[in-house]
Amino acid sequence: LETPYIFPVIDPTLKNQIVGLDEIRSIGFNGIITNAYLLKKNLKTVESIHERLNFDGIIMTDSGAYQILRYGHVETSNREIVQYQCDIGSDIGVILDMPTPYYVTRENALKSAEITLNRAIEVSDIINSCRETLWVLPIQGGTHLDVLSYYARRSTEIFGYGYSIYALGSPTTLLENYILDKVVDMVYTVRSSVEPSRPLHLFGAGHPLIIPFVVALGVDLMDSASYILYAKDKRYITRRATYRLDELQYLPCSCPICSKYTAEELREIPGNEVTKLLALHNLYTLYAELKEIKECIKEGRLWEYLEEKARAHPAGRRAFEAVKKYLAYIYSRAPYSKPRGKGVFIVSEDSVYNPKILIPRRKIIENMTPEKEHIVFIPLRRPYETSHYYTAEPVHTPSNERCIEITASSSYDIYLYHPVLGIVPKHLLDTYPFSQFETFTLYRPELVKTLVYTLIEFVLLASRARRSLKVHVIVNDDTEWQRMFAVHLKHHVKILRSKGIEFHLIENNAKRVTSELDDQHLI
Ligand SMILES: [Zn+2]
Repeated sequence: LETPYIFPVIDPTLKNQIVGLDEIRSIGFNGIITNAYLLKKNLKTVESIHERLNFDGIIMTDSGAYQILRYGHVETSNREIVQYQCDIGSDIGVILDMPTPYYVTRENALKSAEITLNRAIEVSDIINSCRETLWVLPIQGGTHLDVLSYYARRSTEIFGYGYSIYALGSPTTLLENYILDKVVDMVYTVRSSVEPSRPLHLFGAGHPLIIPFVVALGVDLMDSASYILYAKDKRYITRRATYRLDELQYLPCSCPICSKYTAEELREIPGNEVTKLLALHNLYTLYAELKEIKECIKEGRLWEYLEEKARAHPAGRRAFEAVKKYLAYIYSRAPYSKPRGKGVFIVSEDSVYNPKILIPRRKIIENMTPEKEHIVFIPLRRPYETSHYYTAEPVHTPSNERCIEITASSSYDIYLYHPVLGIVPKHLLDTYPFSQFETFTLYRPELVKTLVYTLIEFVLLASRARRSLKVHVIVNDDTEWQRMFAVHLKHHVKILRSKGIEFHLIENNAKRVTSELDDQHLI
């Protein structure tokens, strides 16, 4: 089973299973989830679930916890349902946890989390003797994040009893109501409290709007009945949103269903038949979403994809803003190596948080020490051959002469500054991501301000390593962001002077012919 993966929920009795398992399989889903409790209730005998469903892929079974959430109780015990899942040969089984509905008090959340933990301990002998099944350890606590985090940590103590997968329980209601920011908080809380190498399952996540966000935070497995529930309600899932079939003039999809029918034709198909067609389309959409996410992961552009999703729907934006609260966590987990894909795309103000940019940006500040006493900062632009920066200028002025002198001299350490990339040592200019990124003119005041702080922080850290430091900053007055940069820098430069650091601002007033736009095209 390749992760991230989403298990379609199927009816264990197959009586109400409108979409055939072979059809689900042919779309690409090689694993399904079904309800062991309902199966046990409907079936008097114990038989192999793979034979019963005639499905040779991976079968995950749930224990009936969802029935507790909906109806308040189930007619089985924890030990009974765990043993049953083992006997029918489930590939992945779940203990009978006690779900926390999202509206409950903290006291009740504590109660359901404690009961769940105790039940996980209660069946440790069964799961230990049933090694053919991978056992899921659900963590409860709902939206009470302190409860969730406490029980997540307690769960790490009993994971070794025979469990293989953690699960975050019962966010279904939140997901149904598009309260995605809360779900993001819950996922972060659990993911950051348990071992990063252990898989995490999220119950009930089945909409393309939320899937990439939870995957970015480290969810590996999901399950959902959304494809069929939405279809029964005549709803059509797209990668960006959900539509009522009645609203659609066109079917914006090329799956076999949408290639065969128009929206109008679909509307005319009666009853179960249209439900089935919609369900199939919804499954194709979910599977396409999974493939897109996996490709993004391989190419190292999941962040760019989240930006796209944030723009698709207000709920996506809420999820994105929630993810941004956990940037430090994401950076601590993001790979340092160059991804297989192309350069970084700076397409929105959110692009500056892209781990591929911010990680090297931080590393440079924290780890680079100038070798020389004199350091000079010059604005980054193409071509990178800095010695020609100022000789090529059409009009030579005194400040321009000074720039030529500094950039040509070997007694200066040269650093380049850029509102998105931060401070880049000259010798790293040909490395990723500095050599491979594309941007538009995104030089908002807050970015330029941040760049000033970055430069000051860099100099202060460097001055600790070098007793004597002489800092020169060249600012060209031909672009708006550099004029803004000079203003802010003048405001803050007293911090450096108060530490005894020599500081020179060189405002180069060459009347450059190149416009800012040309500059950006080159980058
Ligand atoms: Zn379709």
